[in-house]
Amino acid sequence: QGKAIELDLYFAMARGVSGRESGSGLPAMEMTKWFDTNYHYLVPELQPEQEFHLASRKPIEEFVEARRLGIVTRPVLIGPITYLLLGKCAGPQFDRLLLLDRILPVYEQALRELYVAGAQWFQIDEPVLATDLTDDVRSAMADCYERLRSAVPKASLMLASYFGPLGENLEMACRIPVAGLHIDLVYGRPQLGEVLSHLSEKAVLSLGVIDGRNVWRTDLDDALQLAWKAAERLGQDRVVIAPSCSLLHCPVDLDLETTLDAGLRPWFAFAKQKLQEVQVLRRAIVDGSVAVADELEASRKAWRDRQRSSLAQVAPVRARAESVTKDMLRRGSPFRQRRLAQHRSLNLPPLPTTTIGSYPQTKEVRAARAEFKAGRLAPEEYEGLLKSQIERAIRFQEDVGLDVLVHGEAERNDMVEYFGEQLTGVAFTQQGWVQSYGSRCVKPPIIYGDVSRLRPMTVGWSRYAQSLTRKPVKGMLTGPVTILQWSFVRNDQPRSVTCRQIALALRDEVADLEAAGIRIIQIDEPALREGLPLQRAEWKAYLEWAVECFRLASSGVRDETQIHTHMCYAEFNDIVTAIAAMDADVISIEAARSRLELLGAFVDFEYPNEIGPGVYDIHSPRVPGREEVVELLRRAQKVFPPDRLWVNPDCGLKTRDWPEVRASLKNMVDAARQIRRELSDACGT
Ligand code: GLN
Ligand code: ZN
Repeated sequence: QGKAIELDLYFAMARGVSGRESGSGLPAMEMTKWFDTNYHYLVPELQPEQEFHLASRKPIEEFVEARRLGIVTRPVLIGPITYLLLGKCAGPQFDRLLLLDRILPVYEQALRELYVAGAQWFQIDEPVLATDLTDDVRSAMADCYERLRSAVPKASLMLASYFGPLGENLEMACRIPVAGLHIDLVYGRPQLGEVLSHLSEKAVLSLGVIDGRNVWRTDLDDALQLAWKAAERLGQDRVVIAPSCSLLHCPVDLDLETTLDAGLRPWFAFAKQKLQEVQVLRRAIVDGSVAVADELEASRKAWRDRQRSSLAQVAPVRARAESVTKDMLRRGSPFRQRRLAQHRSLNLPPLPTTTIGSYPQTKEVRAARAEFKAGRLAPEEYEGLLKSQIERAIRFQEDVGLDVLVHGEAERNDMVEYFGEQLTGVAFTQQGWVQSYGSRCVKPPIIYGDVSRLRPMTVGWSRYAQSLTRKPVKGMLTGPVTILQWSFVRNDQPRSVTCRQIALALRDEVADLEAAGIRIIQIDEPALREGLPLQRAEWKAYLEWAVECFRLASSGVRDETQIHTHMCYAEFNDIVTAIAAMDADVISIEAARSRLELLGAFVDFEYPNEIGPGVYDIHSPRVPGREEVVELLRRAQKVFPPDRLWVNPDCGLKTRDWPEVRASLKNMVDAARQIRRELSDACGT
């Protein structure tokens, strides 16, 4: 209590502790995405009697360390309101704001200690300001900052918002009596005027004019226009130039890239280059734009080139995206009719069993891929290895007794990268890593131009897999929204336009798969939900185009061809209408960990199509028992018509071992068979 936490405890919280006996040990804390970014945080668990202590001196020690080097930094703390709102109640629900009185003393202590160590300015991040807040939260926010300010009356607080406009919280945020306010003018550009007219007297305004979470070079003329406007109104002394948010979300240094297309390079700015842009803008304001004329001209030229470049603008691709018709967004017949055709053609048993796509990726495959990419393994050899993996996966699935097979995705390192590499308008970096969580980083593709497909991307593998078996093999694609969501996306046109181009490329792939004799095609959209805008008022528009893009990708097939989709997360209630509008014939969802509670959203909505609630938690090495799966399936059939139920795991099996997957799937198949017997007994057949 009150002691500094040790590294061991920190690791235990993040990764869990495995016990010696099964069922012992401690689970890891829940991890979830930080607002609408791909960065994750551990969700604080809160109780009504929660006590808080300053348990880490990290911010203070780091401040002191920098200061010794002669640099006085501005310590950044996550704000108390955001911290509490992002936490979850460990037990029964209660009003987390009640904890404010308990947590504020810890903030006050930290601020005071930092002040004593020499800090003059503090930045306190309240990204919840970009979300919809209740009146209670808003008034708590005002009180809270009044208190923090009096803790260090001689220092200055910068209250930072980011990831979106302040929206309904604007007036409140402007009235808070702190020394400075930071606003995001990339993801909330139009708010400047209103903020300027409400900002409290003397407060400094920090202008987030440089996109902190994307890779593009700033249009400096445009940023400067905003900065001039603010400076004119407030005076230069009250204006700060900044990135829109933390630079955690973008790659570090463009200079490290040695293989980027020379035509593209001037369009980018990574973290280091963004900081140079901040300097240029500052100098333009202080010394006038002549002082940085060269830099401004370079930015202007990059933007002009980008707008005209044939790398970014491909007329036929644009024309095709513009000529999408309503008909292209609709299947030929309604679900009921398609269903009959599909049942006739596929002839599957009730409660068909299947898997989500990937099978264990062995070290051997990953090593071979690395060799192949480095040019040290001949293409024929790599292809031969992948074919043997596919054959292994098919034989394995036949052995286990699954009804609908998959090819196993051995050729894919990552479900987005694999497609990105085969689409035009998409670039890859060598060192463009961004943190995902802990020490885990990802290197997202960069969508810089019009997207199209040059040739079939998956058809060869699917056709080969299907040639090995009489059972249907599902084609396996990543959906347009997920490709968009897990990439850096061009900022010179709406995301919906880029998404539509991806959807058209996938539509062609779907058509080719169908023509190659693939009767079931799954289009994964695990990222659909995380694309939801932070403010509810914008949900409708987003869901409309997202659903439309899925339909564009999936609707060009005959009635007989069965379209699946897959999503894995823990919250479906608020998007189930949109999911139904996607009109996939079958959806598989994650549900095992919640013991099928998640199915509730589909039951309440009376979801009209077929559904496979996950009955096997693939995140754990634990093998689910047959009885356990039987129990889950019995539960499922009580609430959902059994003739529209599928049986499958929660998600892909890429990260698991073969022996464990065999045991688990065997139990899953046995369980499905038992339920089928019970069903046919009940019908007296
Ligand atoms: N088809 C993918 C797989 O099985 C789906 C992965 C996902 O939903 N994240 O690996
Ligand atoms: Zn999944």
